[in-house]
Formats: sequence, structure tokens, C-alpha cells
Amino acid sequence: MKNHHTHTFRCKHALGEVDDYVRVALAQGLTVLGFADHTPLPGNRFLSTRMSLAELPGYVQAIAEAQQGYREITILKGMECEWMPEFHSFYQEVLLGEYAFDYLVLGCHFFPYNGDVLSSHVDLHTPRHLAAYTQHLVQSMRSGLFAFVAHPDLFGLTYLEWDENTEAAARDIIGTAKELGLPLEINGHGLVNRTVETARGPRPAYPWLPFWELVADYEVPVVVNSDAHHPQRVAQGLREGLELADSLGLTLADLTLREGG
Ligand SMILES: [Zn+2]
Ligand SMILES: [Zn+2]
Repeated sequence: MKNHHTHTFRCKHALGEVDDYVRVALAQGLTVLGFADHTPLPGNRFLSTRMSLAELPGYVQAIAEAQQGYREITILKGMECEWMPEFHSFYQEVLLGEYAFDYLVLGCHFFPYNGDVLSSHVDLHTPRHLAAYTQHLVQSMRSGLFAFVAHPDLFGLTYLEWDENTEAAARDIIGTAKELGLPLEINGHGLVNRTVETARGPRPAYPWLPFWELVADYEVPVVVNSDAHHPQRVAQGLREGLELADSLGLTLADLTLREGG
């Protein structure tokens, strides 16, 4: 099994250092472990949920030491990034350039709305919110910086019913992924830990099944990741996510084609 989405203590809402995750990953038989902690941002914006710029060298160093120390598992240097125009050159020149990251993951945790910035986790309630999220996600996907899209169906956390708006949003996102050849992530953290209550009873917040049925229709490749925020959960949801992909006839993306720059 492989996991390309792993956090560390630096983001302030995860526990554990790189080495702690690698040791559990080895014990659980993973062959690839990619780190994708929440990126620092220019000006240390949105600092409460990410590392500071000053912590970036230590993150890179911890991954480099693990790569030196463990030969029996492939360890990759990635980062989970929110795209906005003002961050583009930092991702391109500093992360992919100066620090030679193996890959960047797109995580759309915020979106612009009426001159404000809203949270994809808690603020996404109406069709207009959903349209704004979708427009921003699609624009972010088109930046060309990313190896795959983390939890594209994150809107399922607060937009509770599948309707013509979710279907239109899903078709925009999945159609763009198809056009760009950009894989979409089945998120193990969501699968295992995130349930929402709806009028028709509880359901997993994400992955949201009707979204992934459309992914199957469009034949877009997928990746399955744990999005681990605790070392013991480094493989959470991987088996279940692979079963879901298999049950829908989804194709697994080969990320090795995209790594290395
Ligand atoms: Zn996180
Ligand atoms: Zn994440």
C-alpha cells in the first residue's frame, strides 16, 4: 500500500514527527510514504493551521534524514497547498524550485466569496457557496502545480443533500480533472472519521458516493490516501478506499509518473 498524504506536528493539529510516521508505515507494510503537511505561506498567512516559514527547513531536513535512514520504503517530500494567485510563485520557485519538492497536493480549504475568504470545512451551505468553491477549485487545478487534488468532495461536510447543484459542481471538478489528467483523491481521513447527519440519516462526509460514481463515468484516475494527522493512523482508510475504488471500477493513478518535479 502507498500513502501520499501525511501530516506532522508542524501544522499544529497533527501529532508526530516524520520518523514516527515512517516507523508505523513500515510496521504496517506500506511501500511508499509521501509527506504532504500543510504548507507555510508567504507572510505566514493562516498560521494557525500550518507550519511557519521558519519551520520549512526543519521539515525538509526531517524528510531527508528519513530518506537516508530507511532504504526499505520510498519516502517522498510533498506539501499540501491552497492555491491563490499570490501564492503561485512561492510554490513554483521556493517549494518546487529551491527545495525541489517531489510533488504538491492541492487542498482547497478556503475559497474567495464576496470579497471574503470562507472555509470549505464550515462555511459551505448554499448553492452560491458551492459555486464559489467549485470555481476556485477549478481555477486552482488549472495552475499546473499539483500532482493530485486532495478531497475534492470536501463540500460534503456542510452541503448536506445531493442535488442538481452538487451534480453540476461535481461535473465541473471531474471534467476539469479529466481534461488536465489530474488524479482525484479518495480521502481515508474522511472515510474513517468524518460522518455527517442528514435528513436521511448519517453518511460519510467525504468521500461522498455519488461524486465518485461520476468519477467512474468520466474515467478519471484516483489516488487513495490516509491524510494521517497521527502516526498510528498512517494507513487509515487505505483498505476501505481501495475497496471503494474497486467497487466502482475506478482506475488507480500512477503518481510515480508525476513525482520528481
Ligand atoms: Zn490538516
Ligand atoms: Zn491533509
